[in-house]
Amino acid sequence: MPPPRVLTIAGSDSGGGAGIQADLKAMLANGVHGMSVLTAITAQNSLGVQGAWELPEEQVRAQFRSVVDDIGVDAVKTGMLASESMVRVVASLLRTLPGDVPVVVDPVSVSKHGDALLAADAMDAVRSEIVPLATVLTPNLTELGPVSGVELETVEDRDSAAKVLLDAGATWVLVKGGHDVGTAAVDVLYGPGVRRAYSAARADNRHTHGTGCTLASTIAAYLARGYDVPDAVGAAKEYVTGAIAAGFALGGGIGPVDHAW
Ligand code: PLP
Repeated sequence: MPPPRVLTIAGSDSGGGAGIQADLKAMLANGVHGMSVLTAITAQNSLGVQGAWELPEEQVRAQFRSVVDDIGVDAVKTGMLASESMVRVVASLLRTLPGDVPVVVDPVSVSKHGDALLAADAMDAVRSEIVPLATVLTPNLTELGPVSGVELETVEDRDSAAKVLLDAGATWVLVKGGHDVGTAAVDVLYGPGVRRAYSAARADNRHTHGTGCTLASTIAAYLARGYDVPDAVGAAKEYVTGAIAAGFALGGGIGPVDHAW
């Protein structure tokens, strides 16, 4: 039996720590065949993003058709979408997929170093075009406010923001608490009649480059393998916790999570 097929639609990280490189490594480590549609390339290393270039629409559409029309997909993950026009292109492609293909959307906006990975005016388009197509949306605490349009002043506001995103059409929303302070990293999954927290001890390791990409890709991998969403999130949380604990120094800045832990 060939392995399940998972497609990432995302940007390249030349340093191999995040973006499609992290996605493909996470997919390999979690038992699926990974494929990629590049939306953008970045010149990037452990110190930050030195340059970013969006690919032409024609090239993005051609990559998607090549993969989907021949090989087929069992799950999709989206990452760096770069601009409002790219958001619209990717949404139009996702709408051509059969309705039962799960789509995990990581609404990537800035890197840990503060480099923009999405144009400032593009988050509204993510909310209107991409969120309704998301089986699972995985905002971190930096992305949750902009993607929902809710101002986050209290912890309860996170529940309100997740509700806005469910009302906007996401089937499930996973609010990632990794940017919180505290000894535990707690992610909260919201969905049909469900509010469930996933907690893990916070790893004392600053080499966390690629965490978000890895989590979303691993969720997609487990969905492709037939897990339901709460179980796929649980399995992915366990994998990413191990990958962060094993993250290693590379270059002079923040090193990558380790996919071979
Ligand atoms: N580069 C690309 C292409 C990404 O897609 C992402 C995150 O999604 C990043 C960099 C940022 O990674 P991190 O914030 O883990 O450093």
